[in-house]
Amino acid sequence: MTTTKVTQLASFLGGEKLFGVGEGSPLFNPSTGQEIARCSTKGFDFAKAFAYARHHGGPTLRAMNFAERGAMLQQMAESLHAHREELLELSTFSGGNTRGDAKFDVDGAIGTLSYYARLGAKKGEAKFDAEVEPIKLSRSPRYVGRHVSLPLTGVAIHINAFNFPAWGMAEKAACALLAGMPVISKPATSTAILAERMVAIWVEEKVVPAGCFSLVCGSAGDMLDHVTGQDVIAFTGSANTAAIIRELKSVRENSTRVNVEADSLNAAVLGADVEFASPTWNTFLQEVAKDMTQKAGQKCTAIRRIFVPVAALDSVKADLCEELSMVKIGNPQMKGVRMGPLASQAQLQDVQHGVTRLMEECEVVQGEVGRGELAGMEDESGFFQSPILLLAKPSTTSLVHQLEVFGPVATIIPYQSASELIEMVRAGCGSLVTSVYSDSRDFAEEMMFALAPFNGRINFASKKVVEHSVGPGTVLPNLIHGGPGRAGGGEELGGEKGLKLYWQRTALQGDEPMLAKMLGL
Ligand code: NAP
Repeated sequence: MTTTKVTQLASFLGGEKLFGVGEGSPLFNPSTGQEIARCSTKGFDFAKAFAYARHHGGPTLRAMNFAERGAMLQQMAESLHAHREELLELSTFSGGNTRGDAKFDVDGAIGTLSYYARLGAKKGEAKFDAEVEPIKLSRSPRYVGRHVSLPLTGVAIHINAFNFPAWGMAEKAACALLAGMPVISKPATSTAILAERMVAIWVEEKVVPAGCFSLVCGSAGDMLDHVTGQDVIAFTGSANTAAIIRELKSVRENSTRVNVEADSLNAAVLGADVEFASPTWNTFLQEVAKDMTQKAGQKCTAIRRIFVPVAALDSVKADLCEELSMVKIGNPQMKGVRMGPLASQAQLQDVQHGVTRLMEECEVVQGEVGRGELAGMEDESGFFQSPILLLAKPSTTSLVHQLEVFGPVATIIPYQSASELIEMVRAGCGSLVTSVYSDSRDFAEEMMFALAPFNGRINFASKKVVEHSVGPGTVLPNLIHGGPGRAGGGEELGGEKGLKLYWQRTALQGDEPMLAKMLGL
């Protein structure tokens, strides 16, 4: 085994590059299990760092118009693009990602920043949003109302999950910065290396003005004790951590706005109308297999529950096993490997524990707890788990509707009727996305009305669009991302909708010419 230099990760806070004191937390290469970095936030003065962002970053951003903020986002995207190869390699080294998975994260970050850059250019010289049409409030046309949306004057605190250190940081930052709020971003410790390098590039190339973007590498410590009612917390991660954050005294007492993207038991539904081996059938199989194995199943949007008509069960089982067996698993640096390891030892243990619990209720269709056959791995190192396909009995109370196993694991659940199907999909208690594979418009419509209130997004795949389908796993910047209930109840992205989290909408009432003048209308 070759030894790797252990790097100390920096934070960029209060206009400085900082290192915490003490040993800090170790970070590992998931393919080899070797320690590669450490990071610590011990000794950081978060109150001072928040004040710096509020007093330097906030005024700078509020003085810029949308086009200028957009131009800054474009520079952020371009500087990452110029370092793309380095970032992709770092993603593989520090996150166990195959090249395809690394691109999904890094290119997703660049693409989302560019999308919001274009939106900024389109919004032009305005600095805030205001209603153009006055609302009549009395018999006189002089006395009217209008709503204005101004950026909050605090700081946007972004706490991200381990699975998308690049895209997760960029998608939140793009919205907050374009809206006019400075950002303090905290990646998950286990995969923070990539985020740290991205921010170091922005700092080295001076693409973000002082105080507009800060990074915290390492544990959150007492960071959130300093929030006020003018700050916003956007969190992505587990429901347990979300609950801790929502219950913090500082958050409760200041009614700090909190947006949560948490666990999600996403569903794929195969309609009874779909014929065996038809284009819709094949797309269903390919998208399920891709979702189970892309990023080793560590995607918030990954399909966890696969609903199939009883009559199609045997064919789906056989075809899915075949699809999965074609996925080469192993060293993510090796060409042709489509699935690498899980991101950390803790993640591996969590997945194996979760799947063992599911197995108490489910039959195993394919796979087992363990690393399986791996390509390009000479020893037993790394955090590998082979894909596991399970089969559950139809029920609304099964664990499969409650436990998210964040890895290459999914469960087939047969259904007899549309009403039974709807009850079982709804038993997930709120998801980010459900996919409906059907060539029947009536069935698609029935699913939309029954399932939309339980989902942030519904992905319809039919023979008319299969060749264009991007599948449920890709989060697009122009569509909202988030979901009700178990999925956290949050909403991000969706083009302009994503900016609203960072604005206060205020009703103004008074003299029409005065309001029009102050709003620059
Ligand atoms: P996690 O353990 O909840 O951690 C998420 C983030 O919260 C990390 O940055 C973590 O920092 C931080 N954190 C932990 N305790 C905290 C506290 N007391 N105060 C403030 N921050 C704290 O989740 P994870 O294991 O990284 O991610 C897996 C989960 O994320 C899965 O359940 C998945 O469903 C969910 N997820 C959801 C989405 C979505 O968009 N809905 C996307 C991706 C993932 P440290 O790493 O330093 O502990």
